[in-house]
Amino acid sequence: MLSIIVPCFNEEETLPQFFAAVEAQRSTLATPLEYWFVNDGSTDGTLAALRALAAAHAAVHYLSFSRNFGKEAAMFAGLQQASGDYVVVMDADLQDPPTLLPEMLAMLRGGADLDCVGTRRIDRKGEPRIRSFFARRFYRLINKISQTQMVDGARDYRMMTRQMVDAVLELTEYNRFSKGLFSWVGFNVAYLSFENRGRVAGRTSWSFWKLFNYSIEGIVNFSELPLNLASFVGAFSCVGSGLALVFIVIRAWLYGDPTAGWPSMVSIFLFLGGIQLLCLGIIGKYIGKIFMETKKRPLYIVKERDGKKG
Ligand code: UDP
Ligand code: MG
Repeated sequence: MLSIIVPCFNEEETLPQFFAAVEAQRSTLATPLEYWFVNDGSTDGTLAALRALAAAHAAVHYLSFSRNFGKEAAMFAGLQQASGDYVVVMDADLQDPPTLLPEMLAMLRGGADLDCVGTRRIDRKGEPRIRSFFARRFYRLINKISQTQMVDGARDYRMMTRQMVDAVLELTEYNRFSKGLFSWVGFNVAYLSFENRGRVAGRTSWSFWKLFNYSIEGIVNFSELPLNLASFVGAFSCVGSGLALVFIVIRAWLYGDPTAGWPSMVSIFLFLGGIQLLCLGIIGKYIGKIFMETKKRPLYIVKERDGKKG
């Protein structure tokens, strides 16, 4: 059986089209399907649409969160529910073409010993220039500073074997950056490429700032470089100020001390103050993560499941 996991946040317009497009692949797939839609605190008619779908089709299941917990939490909840031998995660907006499903399944079943077939966009057409620019920079950076490699343009659209899903489910951390988590668990992954396409309806829920913060998440969750950088800058300015001290003392000793240099002193104070605040900020970011991690709050709260409360 193939389980299809779909995180949904305000997708009432796209859901019927999505369902029809996936159902169209059913005969080519030639395998039983199971849907797990996760309503991530939508404020539109998404839940009603899901109730209707589930009532009409036995293969359709849904979870509905008590509020918006984010796509990461929704995907995790879906993975926990899925019972298929193969599991695929898809966006509801048809940006992940269902026509690739048969090929992905065939690849996993083939003799190549694959555990996961991911997808990547070969271009970023239809996306704001500035967004593509920063996305590229992000992947360059994270692959330099983190042991965990992340593929540029890789989408969350991926089909996995049961074994890999179970591995991902063992990572129960609160701060989830799934692109990294899927890569961290290892296994053999192959990528299919496709051309980027826009949403069929509705609008994206990712603003530039949301994406920016998400990229910071990725860095803090998968790299200690910022911390090391902070220590390095601290050590560097220590040595630098030590040398400057020697220089100033010797100069005063040789040439006397005409009380000058007030502007340079202020600049140095400000510079060091700035560095200290920056390093504190970096450390604070990591402590914040630890703080959230130690609370061990659940990743999501389910309000309704297949028509039943709780
Ligand atoms: N999504 C979600 N919770 C959120 C934001 C998004 O479950 O808080 C879902 C959304 O319904 C869609 C998928 O995640 O199925 C991708 O979202 P979107 O299309 O807005 O992102 P983009 O494709 O623009 O990166
Ligand atoms: Mg989308």
